[in-house]
Amino acid sequence: MIKNGMAESDIMRRKTEKLKQCQELHLFDYKKLKQSRILNREAQTICPLCLEEISGEGFLNRLQQAEGREVPDLTITQLNLFHIQELQIGVFNHRPYNLGWGHHHCNVVVRDAGIEQTLDWMDDVLDKNIDGGYFTPKKRPS
Ligand SMILES: [Zn+2]
Repeated sequence: MIKNGMAESDIMRRKTEKLKQCQELHLFDYKKLKQSRILNREAQTICPLCLEEISGEGFLNRLQQAEGREVPDLTITQLNLFHIQELQIGVFNHRPYNLGWGHHHCNVVVRDAGIEQTLDWMDDVLDKNIDGGYFTPKKRPS
């Protein structure tokens, strides 16, 4: 936020006020946030799919566009809201602890399939690529 012109005192005031509001609204349960893949063990915000820590800069940076396919009014940032449990017809999934911040590209991969199903699919993709000799994992299972 400092890089984008906000004063440190304003940043701290905003953070303190937002945390207070979250506590008042019972939206600040660390255990639930960690179980939901929203925070890691160090209480840092993480992407629900790749589990990388998220930087606040991602909220301010627009997505890089492919050369030749640029649109002038792109408003997609590198981070966006991510459903932990995928949306399903007839199920109310717009609820606390079911929305986290994640990478736009990770959210695109998960689509409406859900995180667990996406990880299963990725595991199958990796197995097929390894078995086919197209990919050598950096880390081998122990
Ligand atoms: Zn990610």
